[in-house]
Amino acid sequence: MPIGPEHRTRAYSDTFENALIRTNAGMASFAVPGSPHRCGRCLYWLEEAQGGKGRCAAYTRLMRGRKGALVAASQTACKMFEAARR
Ligand code: SF4
Repeated sequence: MPIGPEHRTRAYSDTFENALIRTNAGMASFAVPGSPHRCGRCLYWLEEAQGGKGRCAAYTRLMRGRKGALVAASQTACKMFEAARR
């Protein structure tokens, strides 16, 4: 589910609005529109549930141990993406 309330009024530049609509709770930073990378391929994504859901370890680190919402493996990556060796 995207962050922020549904049907909100656009208040920022097109670039930032595009990032906002692609960003979901539990991510370490805003999604990067047009990025070829996905969270499921990121070093910081840790699979925790069936169905391709996991948590972002970078978020947990930034929030000093507090776990964020589950993030889908198919989620568009943020600027902190680092390719995992899998
Ligand atoms: S790209 Fe990596 S660091 Fe960014 S939200 Fe996804 S799992 Fe976290």
